[in-house]
Amino acid sequence: MLNIDLHCHSTVSDGLLTPTQLVDHAATRGVDVLALTDHDNVDGLDEARHAAKAKSITFINGVEISVSWRSQTLHIVGLGIDPEYAPLIEGLLAIRSGRAERASNIASQLDKSGIYGSLEGAYSYAGAGRLIGRTHFARFLTERGHAKDVKSVFKKYLVKGKPGYAPHQWVSLAEAVGWICGSGGRAVIAHPARYKLGKSALDELLLEFKGLGGAAIEVITASHTPEQSLLFARHAQRLDLLASRGSDFHGPGESYFDLGRMPELPSGCKPVWHDWNGIM
Ligand code: AMP
Ligand code: MN
Ligand code: MN
Ligand code: MN
Repeated sequence: MLNIDLHCHSTVSDGLLTPTQLVDHAATRGVDVLALTDHDNVDGLDEARHAAKAKSITFINGVEISVSWRSQTLHIVGLGIDPEYAPLIEGLLAIRSGRAERASNIASQLDKSGIYGSLEGAYSYAGAGRLIGRTHFARFLTERGHAKDVKSVFKKYLVKGKPGYAPHQWVSLAEAVGWICGSGGRAVIAHPARYKLGKSALDELLLEFKGLGGAAIEVITASHTPEQSLLFARHAQRLDLLASRGSDFHGPGESYFDLGRMPELPSGCKPVWHDWNGIM
């Protein structure tokens, strides 16, 4: 059986490895098919595809788009996208400039709690002028001793009701799914168990997503318990949605699953890759 990992991050967003290092790492872990899915950015795909060719890894163009739906932030993964599709490129560019604005707001909020210098600190991890996100702030806060690791930061900072939280309006679900489908890709709801949705809101989301042309649910991902994976496998079957599998790897020491090191899809799922020629 092929080892397929369709969700991970490089230094182009908030990962720790460059696209080439990430692909090399995937090769050492026995990954056969890899999608790079950086947050709101497709700039790493060319480098990753090139590196994958050298390692005989089948490479899939990916992205993970930040969406606001009702009062929630959702992540929608796009697989098999065309990274030159103008509406997608322009949309992602606008999201990234919104991220820069949000970063200033996060820093102002941290200032208010007596934590200074976080904007410069976060950019020292992201790289000047590059995509900035909460993970970069989390690395800065860890470095300063405010938490023992990145994961712990998100329990005390940067989330609703805690210091360093800045509300933000991302793009709509319709826009994200529209860009992905319009570019020839397949839209996947990332880590669905992470969202705080009641039963009926979840159903409404899944139906709306499907109605917009959404194709799949990420069933296997680092932030799901085995029970949650089974639950979402059943949702996928019930709604005739495909199932995806991805580690959401961000880097050694920062991720629960290593690249390709996670359970297979539960039986009865129809894989999102079922009709990808030559990959089965
Ligand atoms: P952003 O898109 O800038 O809001 O940042 C979201 C990113 O923060 C996610 O993709 C993760 O990399 C990271 N993150 C969010 N919550 C957690 C958590 N509880 N533990 C570890 N990383 C997290
Ligand atoms: Mn991330
Ligand atoms: Mn995500
Ligand atoms: Mn991710």
